[in-house]
Amino acid sequence: MRLTRYFLPVLKETPAEAQIVSHRLMLRAGMIRQASAGIYSWLPLGYRVLRRIEEIVHQEQQRAGAIPVLMPTIQSADLWRQSGRYDAYGPEMLRIKDRHDRDMLYGPTNEEMITEIFKAYCGSYRDLPKNLYHIQWKFRDEVRPRFGVMRGREFLMKDAYSFDLDHASAIHSYNQMMAAYLRTFERLGLKAVPMKAESGPIGGDHAHEFLILAETGESGVFLDRTVVDLSLGGREIDFDDRAQLQAIFDDWTAPYARTDDTHDEALFHSMVPEERRVEARGIEVGHIFYFGTKYSEPLEALVATPEGEKVPVHGGSYGIGVSRLVGAIIEASHDDKGIIWPESVAPFAVGLVNLKQGDAAVDAACEDLYAKLEAAGLSVLYDDTDDRAGAKFATMELIGLPWRLTVGPRGLKSGVVELACRRTGASEELTPEAAVAKLG
Ligand code: ATP
Ligand code: MG
Ligand code: MG
Ligand code: MG
Repeated sequence: MRLTRYFLPVLKETPAEAQIVSHRLMLRAGMIRQASAGIYSWLPLGYRVLRRIEEIVHQEQQRAGAIPVLMPTIQSADLWRQSGRYDAYGPEMLRIKDRHDRDMLYGPTNEEMITEIFKAYCGSYRDLPKNLYHIQWKFRDEVRPRFGVMRGREFLMKDAYSFDLDHASAIHSYNQMMAAYLRTFERLGLKAVPMKAESGPIGGDHAHEFLILAETGESGVFLDRTVVDLSLGGREIDFDDRAQLQAIFDDWTAPYARTDDTHDEALFHSMVPEERRVEARGIEVGHIFYFGTKYSEPLEALVATPEGEKVPVHGGSYGIGVSRLVGAIIEASHDDKGIIWPESVAPFAVGLVNLKQGDAAVDAACEDLYAKLEAAGLSVLYDDTDDRAGAKFATMELIGLPWRLTVGPRGLKSGVVELACRRTGASEELTPEAAVAKLG
């Protein structure tokens, strides 16, 4: 992409309304524009990041066996009356009337709708297990929308819903999602820790929120330092292997890790020696929840067992805040000059900076590098404007592309360009060919 043809409205001033660094940087880097409180347009740079995160979430959901669908944003109130949540949900639900005076709503979540779909087509143990998910916009009329996309009113969520015959297989589905989440957040370059969450009507240990540690987080967190060091790394996961998934669950849930909702000070002190105790703030980026027959009973989603008995199907739901993640990644990865994108979600892999637009040799070298990098499969943002060098560098640092390749007349005379790494700040001079080889 050539910057002269792109749409990258970077701001020089720090917007006064933004209280946290990710919100400030997203506005300054021209990623989002507020449409009204808690509702945003995604500008080209922000949209690229959002799509990349979405793609990783899709891949890891499907790797774990979940099947993509797409349900509507607007729902009828009828199913919600049946589940009892139409009144229970309260003022966070945006309620709408259509022209026939029917009660509709903008979905804050989809348990009712997916249960209705499941029930329409699946009635036997032979249809199980199933896990259906979508990535769709949600609306919650938050009392205090703030922090940009971190607490929006309209936001993009991945929500998956599992259906199983009994408790044991539902726990396997839960463990599949737990492992999928660990993989997803690792690929996003995040340390997200599963923490025990409020478990709802059936109790048990199968409700976890995934939080990343950040000073601006809205939850207080209490944890054993050892859980932060756990990582899947390159571990192969067989999502059908119940024992392996149970072992992963056990490893990640053994150390103490709770939010202020579930924190138990006495237990914290007895389980964790003082030097390993961490008390910090965290951002909720995901939530997994086994709720048993909470929806299948009122909505009468029954399945026949092999013995012919009809039982309510066991369910779980699994959310990831896809749009919140854009802000959360920035909270976790930035410096005083701007964003530092992990390679996996960066809007472009390389920023190519032409230090002397209009100089025939520099222009030619840039065009050649641009073509070769793109041919090698790298996404490149080519700054072909005639801005001065300082402004170009500042923009590149602000938007946080992993690599910056700088081409200027002086370097070219000795046959070199400069390659700089955004994360480490290290730079080296090398020939254009060597730069392409190194990046590609
Ligand atoms: P929170 O505690 O932050 O209000 P929640 O517990 O109400 O979130 P869930 O119902 O668990 O949210 O939804 C799944 C995920 O959707 C959350 O883990 C979070 O990442 C994301 N999410 C929830 N509310 C918002 C919001 N207002 N803006 C952006 N993302 C959100
Ligand atoms: Mg909430
Ligand atoms: Mg929450
Ligand atoms: Mg939650």
